Amino acid sequence: MKNIDYFVRNEKEAALVAMVERLAEVFAGRAAKHDLEGSFPFDNIAGLKEAGYLKLTVPKKYGGDEISLYEMVLAQERLARGDGSTALAVGWHIGLVHHYRYTRDWPEELFERFCRDVVAEGAMINHFSSEPKTGSPTRGGRPETVVEETEGGWLITGRKSFSTLSPALDQFIVSAYMADEDEVGLFFVRKQDGVSIEETWNTIGMRATGSHDVLLDHVFVPSDALLRKKSETKSDGDGWLLHIPACYLGIAYAARDFAVNYAQNYRPNSLPGPIAELPHIESQIGIMEEKLITARTLLYSVADRWDKHPDQRIALQPERALAKKVATNTALEIVDAAMRIVGGASLSRSLPLERWYRDVRAGLHNPPMDDSVLKLLAKRALLES
Ligand SMILES: Cc1cc2nc3c(=O)[nH]c(=O)nc-3n(C[C@H](O)[C@H](O)[C@H](O)COP(=O)(O)OP(=O)(O)OC[C@H]3O[C@@H](n4cnc5c(N)ncnc54)[C@H](O)[C@@H]3O)c2cc1C
Repeated sequence: MKNIDYFVRNEKEAALVAMVERLAEVFAGRAAKHDLEGSFPFDNIAGLKEAGYLKLTVPKKYGGDEISLYEMVLAQERLARGDGSTALAVGWHIGLVHHYRYTRDWPEELFERFCRDVVAEGAMINHFSSEPKTGSPTRGGRPETVVEETEGGWLITGRKSFSTLSPALDQFIVSAYMADEDEVGLFFVRKQDGVSIEETWNTIGMRATGSHDVLLDHVFVPSDALLRKKSETKSDGDGWLLHIPACYLGIAYAARDFAVNYAQNYRPNSLPGPIAELPHIESQIGIMEEKLITARTLLYSVADRWDKHPDQRIALQPERALAKKVATNTALEIVDAAMRIVGGASLSRSLPLERWYRDVRAGLHNPPMDDSVLKLLAKRALLES
């Protein structure tokens, strides 16, 4: 029986999904090598560029496809079924372009120029906000990266950690402390002398995201490189962050497919048929389905509401955060169940399950973190009563 995905609602989405599935299939063939080597998937990035994936969220008026949040989630989830690291890395880029398409938190001229570079040359972007001493920027710590004013602009100095996509970027956004104003600014920085990458990313999972440390040593940026002061940034309810749960559910989906297929085809000689006929295996498959359907339903319903109700985007933040918490925790459980189904063979490096098991672990440490989500939900409940 053919697998029908009820979250694909129309021909446009079906065409998008088909395009991404072709990429995911190719990337799946390279994933084990990049994971083993911890190498950055430049080959996949070239494939994404060629397929037009990098411009999916760019506004139409600047030459992009201007896809919706729902469509972005669909694309990201499909891509992650092939390779989680590539999906997470490119997710920051297409997610941020989607985000700025709504907030226009950049000088418009700079945003237009960047968007046109995405379309013409495959330019990409990411935010480098985490730091060794500040931890997650979501906690509100002050960046140790600092700016000093100079003629015609600023000089930026500091170290950013977890800088995903850094090997492929010619420009990025950094948060830095402006001591004169006691403010945090977001600066658009082009790769240049004074910017270097220290290859620190050697982790248990998401090994091919290139999330190294980026060092800035008195890097000059012109006056118009200040996108916004943090206190002045506009909010769109951060719907774009749904690229994160989409990624981890995509990985879980791949594990589910693998385990179901394995159960249907593995016939140990102690049994008359495949292990799929055993009650305890059927039960594990049921558990995977229950979790996957629940998490996907929440994820897609939040993305759909975000698209359809602009006036509710801020109010939707607790649900948006919950969709991430449910997806990332569920992904851990689904990969775990998939490995229980496959048994001891699941530990082998010749199968992808052990990689997926390691990759989904990283989801816990992408924003928003579980404790913040619970706090957000509790806060609203208390306000409502
Ligand atoms: C695969 C991957 C890709 C990433 N890509 C990027 C990227 O592209 N750009 C980027 O900027 N970042 C990126 N990050 C970094 C991420 O956003 C977090 O900054 C990072 O994972 C550290 O988060 P943390 O909660 O462990 O760190 P910390 O904030 O150092 O927290 C460590 C521990 O202390 C607790 N803690 C610390 N401070 C507080 C507090 N004030 N209140 C409550 N609890 C606290 C936390 O709960 C946690 O248990 C990436 C992370 C991963 C795993």
